[in-house]
Amino acid sequence: MTDTTFAYDDQNIFARILRGEIPNKTVFENDHALAFADIAPQAPVHVLVIPKGPYVSLDHFASEATPEEQVGFFQAVAEVCRLSGVEEGFRAIANARAHGVQDVPHFHLHILGGTRLGRMLP
Ligand code: ADP
Repeated sequence: MTDTTFAYDDQNIFARILRGEIPNKTVFENDHALAFADIAPQAPVHVLVIPKGPYVSLDHFASEATPEEQVGFFQAVAEVCRLSGVEEGFRAIANARAHGVQDVPHFHLHILGGTRLGRMLP
C-alpha cells in the first residue's frame, strides 16, 4: 500500500470562505468548524460542514486532525442535524479526490435531507 500525501491548496474556495473573502450562508459555527448552505442544493436541506483547519479530505482529517478539532467538527454536524429539521433522516457524503469526484479540495461533509432521497450506492 502506498502512502497518501495530503497537500493543501490555501486558494481553494472553502479556504477563501473561512478567511471571509467569499460570503456564505452560515448555519452554524464553532471554534473548529463552519457549516453553511451549499450554493447548488441537491435536496431541500443541503449543508456543508467543514473543519477550520487545512485538511483536504476525510482521510486527511481523520488521520491528522487533533482530537479537539475532530470533536468540534462532529459537534457542528450534530448541531446542523438538530437545526435543519432532518428528524426523518438525512444522508452524509464526503467525496475524496478523483475517484470520489471531489471538486473542492478542503474536507467537507455534505448533509442532505428534507425529503426521501433516492438510493445512490452503485
Ligand atoms: P461535487 O461538486 O462533485 O459534489 P464536492 O464534494 O467537492 O464535489 O462538493 C463541492 C460542493 O461545494 C458542491 O456541492 C458545490 O455546490 C459547493 N460549492 C461550491 N462553491 C460554493 C460556495 N461558494 N458556497 C457554497 N457551496 C459551494
